[in-house]
Amino acid sequence: MDREAVVTRPARRKPGPKPRLSRESILAAAVAAGGVVSITGIADDLGCSTASLYRHVEGLDDIVVGAIDLVIARTRRPDPAAGWRRFLEEECDIRWGLYERHSGLFSAWSASRRLSIASVQRNEWVALRLVDAGFELADARSVVSTIAATAAEYGFLIAQACLPSAEAALEARLAVLGRASADVERDRAHHPRQHFDRQLRILLDGFALHYERTRDRMTESTAPETRPAARGEVEIVMYDLKPRRLEVVRAESLTPTMRRVVLGGSDLEGFPFLTMAPDDHVKLFFPDAETGEITMPEIGPDGMRLVPGAPRPQSRDYTIRAFDADALELTLDFVLHTHGIAGNWAAAAEPGDRVGVLGPRGSHKYPADYDWYLLAADETALPALSRWLEELPADKQVLAFAEVADASSEIDLSGRPGATVTYLHRGTSEPGTTTLLDDAVRAADFLDGEVFAWVAGEAGSLKPIRRYLTRELGLPKGQVKVDGYWRRGAADHDHHAVDEDD
Ligand SMILES: Cc1cc2nc3c(=O)[nH]c(=O)nc-3n(C[C@H](O)[C@H](O)[C@H](O)COP(=O)(O)OP(=O)(O)OC[C@H]3O[C@@H](n4cnc5c(N)ncnc54)[C@H](O)[C@@H]3O)c2cc1C
Repeated sequence: MDREAVVTRPARRKPGPKPRLSRESILAAAVAAGGVVSITGIADDLGCSTASLYRHVEGLDDIVVGAIDLVIARTRRPDPAAGWRRFLEEECDIRWGLYERHSGLFSAWSASRRLSIASVQRNEWVALRLVDAGFELADARSVVSTIAATAAEYGFLIAQACLPSAEAALEARLAVLGRASADVERDRAHHPRQHFDRQLRILLDGFALHYERTRDRMTESTAPETRPAARGEVEIVMYDLKPRRLEVVRAESLTPTMRRVVLGGSDLEGFPFLTMAPDDHVKLFFPDAETGEITMPEIGPDGMRLVPGAPRPQSRDYTIRAFDADALELTLDFVLHTHGIAGNWAAAAEPGDRVGVLGPRGSHKYPADYDWYLLAADETALPALSRWLEELPADKQVLAFAEVADASSEIDLSGRPGATVTYLHRGTSEPGTTTLLDDAVRAADFLDGEVFAWVAGEAGSLKPIRRYLTRELGLPKGQVKVDGYWRRGAADHDHHAVDEDD
């Protein structure tokens, strides 16, 4: 039969030493199974009884979704720089390869009702790259889910090809479809790749049309945002990711609500640090409360991947307050609050404590040629605000606002001549609930010349400020950076997540 997708079933019981039975080895066996994935097949491959598998996994669905998570997390991602259409084509190509290599696994997954976190994360990543390319977030998400569903449907055809009953299944479907669509269906089953490519072309043409219209609409309604920036643009410098394991060298209280932690270790060799990149940050990975183990992703040839079988790593973003390349010391300033792992870890940190550090992924080097800078920050962004004030060229004027609880939480920001820094006290109000920063920015008397505006803090309370700067004042997007560092009520807020009015 003229099949494009030739799927070979690997021989069971590979020779060699028997691996120790663990969740990890079971998932690895499921990943390696090119054909049908079943409990008995995996037990057979591992040379153990099916009952012994249940000591490590809940059942077939658990194995399948765990293996899918592994496979997806390991799979390379397409290059957004290639333009949105090529980017999506490449993503589909990658998905196709996945279905071909792991047809049995994906077939079993389509029958289970379990959610793969790695798949959801990948879809969201693709959607956000489309947003970078100009799609609206809702559109981007629906483009991704349409593509994922289409790829899955066609992938299922490949998967069927490896099942013993593929022909029978096809014949049964043909019988109910009737003659008219039977030829199409037969052709589709025998040439799935050609059909998929055609389907993809139709989908992408449709998206292109919709995208052009949306962009026209956006250009009309938000014309000022699309104006070029008046001066230099933010320059992005990317680095290779390196997981580092560091130790606390010293820790001290800066205020009752902020604690400085200095990390050291030979892993800091080659740590990238640029000036005029005041909001550069790293991801911190904290030790497990019970085992003390630090779980971090590994960096492989295809980029970042989760360690097979290890618990899912938990990370939080923190600004690089300072880096001393001679002493190999990295300084971070933590807001103390009792709601999350990072805040609690910092409160108790003492010399010798270990923490994992990943990044920075890249630096945002800000333009230094604006006439003046408007800066606004809550406590979490005080480290970045401090760097702005230290690193801007001496002749630049600055108007800065910082929200803290009260005078005892203020850090000294008076060192820069030509800067007007105003502290705003929220008193007994909860962090992230006031309009203090928004009110202050709206009431500010703008200085003469071109402004660059940088604002960071609680995501919800920054929304009106973003709207004011870009929509109401009409500042070009390249002159404004508003970054939601945390969100009230949400653990591990993703600051790349896009608000509807971004
Ligand atoms: C680029 C970037 C740089 C950052 N730099 C710094 C920095 O230098 N210093 C710093 O302190 N923070 C910084 N943050 C913010 C920090 O990552 C978040 O506050 C993070 O959520 C803290 O993690 P957690 O484990 O303590 O709390 P999570 O587990 O993330 O959250 C648990 C709960 O605590 C709440 N919460 C989170 N942060 C705060 C807070 N500050 N005050 C009150 N409630 C809170 C959440 O809303 C949630 O309800 C930065 C964030 C980004 C994106």
